[in-house]
This record gives sequence, structure tokens and C-alpha cells, in this order.
Amino acid sequence: MNSADAAYVASLQARAQAFNGELFDNRVPLAKVRFLPSAAVRQLGSVRANADRSAFVVRIARLLDGPAGDADVQGSRFNLRDEVLVHELVHVEQFIIAPDEQPHGLWFRERMRAIGARPRACPTVQLEVRGRWLYRCPAGHEVARLRRYGRRRVSCRRCDPRAYNAKHRLRLVGEITSAGGAE
Ligand SMILES: [Zn+2]
Ligand SMILES: [Zn+2]
Repeated sequence: MNSADAAYVASLQARAQAFNGELFDNRVPLAKVRFLPSAAVRQLGSVRANADRSAFVVRIARLLDGPAGDADVQGSRFNLRDEVLVHELVHVEQFIIAPDEQPHGLWFRERMRAIGARPRACPTVQLEVRGRWLYRCPAGHEVARLRRYGRRRVSCRRCDPRAYNAKHRLRLVGEITSAGGAE
């Protein structure tokens, strides 16, 4: 894991810990949850449990570490960055205390509503801005742009705030769409 990813994972862990106290009465067994960054631009978050529900892997899109994470989420008091994390934490909570309920069923929606998060759809459908272009620097920083840079060479401002530095060149990853998805 490169240093940008390690920093991202540390920030996910810190926010998960804060949410666990504020929203979950510390019921989420964070010691058993491994957070991993994902390169996904459609499925912003996912969670997997092992067979006996003693270990979990939560993947959260790197995309949310950038400006896309600041977006408001309709029907939620959280921005997209926090909404996706809370969504996955509710899944983990459900694995522990309501494992027989449907993954996005009544129990899940009720919990999301009580927390002030969007009760129904997965966070994947929240990214409603079309035509955004995702760029990434060699350190893993990602930048979402409304317009493509085209042939312009642009470097990562977080790695080097100067005008252009070839070492930190941003490369096009893909186009972000609002396509829905599961989990
Ligand atoms: Zn960078
Ligand atoms: Zn889900």
C-alpha cells in the first residue's frame, strides 16, 4: 500500500471510530474490520464478511477522498464521503445483530433513517453528476473534473502545488457515471 492509500485508510479508521461512538453505541467491532481503498468509480463502497462473521473487509472508493466526497446526498445529513462509510458500517452492524434480515431490507432502512442517512438506495446511485472525469496521480490522489483536460498536461497539486511537475502527472482513469449498483 502506498503512502496515500495508507493515509486514506487511517482517515477511514478514524472516522469509523468516531461514527461508532456517535451513531452505533460502539456496537461495530472495528477491530475485526479491515478498510481498503478501492479504485471503483461506480460502486463507492462494499463490505464482505467471512463465513462466521468474525472478520469484515470494507472497501471504500478512493474517489471519495477527493472533491466528489463533498457532494450532498439527498435525504441524508451526511455528505457522500460520510454517507458511504456510514452505509457500510450499518451493514457490518447488521451482520452482527440482525444477520437474518435482508441486506437492504426493512431493518437496514430503519437503521439508516434513525441515523439520518439515506434509508434506501445504495450510495452508488448518489453520484449524480455525469460527465465527470477521474484523474489519478502516481501517489494515488484522485481528482474529479467536470471537463477533460484534453491534451493539457496537468500534475497533482497535492503532491506538488507548483504549476506542473512531470513526476506527479495526473492520468485519466475514467469517466464517472451515476450508474447504480449493489452493496
Ligand atoms: Zn498526488
Ligand atoms: Zn449496501
